[in-house]
Amino acid sequence: MSSPSSIPIAAPDMGEPEIEAVARVIRSGWVTQGPEVSAFESEFALACGSTSAVAVSSCTAALHLVLHALGIGPGDEVVTASHSFIATANAIAYTGATPVFVDIRLDDLNLDPDLLEAAITPRTQAILAVHQLGMPCRIAAIADIAARHGLHLVEDAACAIGSEVNTAGIWRTIGQPFGIAACFSFHPRKLLTTGDGGMITTNDPAFATRLRALRQHGMSLTDRQRHMAGSVIFESYDEIGFNYRMTDIQAAIGREQLKRLPLMLQRRRGLAALYQNRLAGIRGLGVPSDRRDTRTNWQSFHVLLPEHIDQHAAMSHLLARGIATRRGVMCAHLEPAYSRHHARHNLQTSERARCHGMILPLFPAMTENDVDRVVSALQEVLTIEEPDAR
Ligand SMILES: *Cc1c(COP(=O)(O)O)cnc(C)c1O
Repeated sequence: MSSPSSIPIAAPDMGEPEIEAVARVIRSGWVTQGPEVSAFESEFALACGSTSAVAVSSCTAALHLVLHALGIGPGDEVVTASHSFIATANAIAYTGATPVFVDIRLDDLNLDPDLLEAAITPRTQAILAVHQLGMPCRIAAIADIAARHGLHLVEDAACAIGSEVNTAGIWRTIGQPFGIAACFSFHPRKLLTTGDGGMITTNDPAFATRLRALRQHGMSLTDRQRHMAGSVIFESYDEIGFNYRMTDIQAAIGREQLKRLPLMLQRRRGLAALYQNRLAGIRGLGVPSDRRDTRTNWQSFHVLLPEHIDQHAAMSHLLARGIATRRGVMCAHLEPAYSRHHARHNLQTSERARCHGMILPLFPAMTENDVDRVVSALQEVLTIEEPDAR
């Protein structure tokens, strides 16, 4: 008997069009930031409904660049979630500011707006709100708090391309920023990938211009402007910048990936609905669902195991059946890198999600049969380990 093939946690959705796009760029002779990056920025802004988009080398670079451009630095505080990929806290730390961690809600694994105000101090400069695993946070409520306290609002939308949120009866795509900017990732674990890469969306053209200079060493001219100029022109460096460029090779891949987005969203939402339907009957399992005001892109499908089930044992059980899983989202304050930062506020919900959460496979090429295999394996875990099962 042959064992069934294994089911990975995720798989990038790429093919011939991406390969062709890379070949086109290499043949053109212009391989780093240039015309493909400009075109990708315009197309991405259009897809999100923002006026500008600025491509960079990663979402981590995007977050750092935005916080830096806002003038955030040593002595400042930025309120955010500990329950996120470490890059969220790191981007704050790079500026010299202190991340102040606020707990999440269990329904959407995102910042609890009811706990935000207690974390704001005279040093607070900004709120960095994450749309964790693509699930939109309560962004309108968070934007109200930011406005009331005169704070910058930045969205970590690393996972949230294509997700939507309804405010005042209108559906709005994540990336139409509620504050100054939203930051996206093109790492292979996200929906769209360029290998690595990131994008900042903003509705402030002057801010976009400043970001474009800062991502290119603070240079007053782009390579393209210099290349296109009919005469010899010299650039200047008015402030200290970074090398956070995206290459044209990456951008050309990104443009093809963006064309696939509608189909990716349709497939992911279909698979999430299958999971929700099949898992509904399993007692004690926390299954995610959209709020009435959200349309998640289902970048990840995160279930919450009952307290008596050991996370590691559950993941091992699935792995033995050829099914890859990941534990719940990490918490920065539990990592040695942040152990100096005493968590000022209670983070018990973040810790519960980290210790009892499990991410199930979900990617466009997954089949209904794959979903059924995952569900049966999960069912085995929950029935075998039920302490009072007879
Ligand atoms: C993936 C991720 C990042 C980092 O993105 P990179 O492009 O890998 O730098 C930041 N924040 C969150 C919430 C993420 O999931």
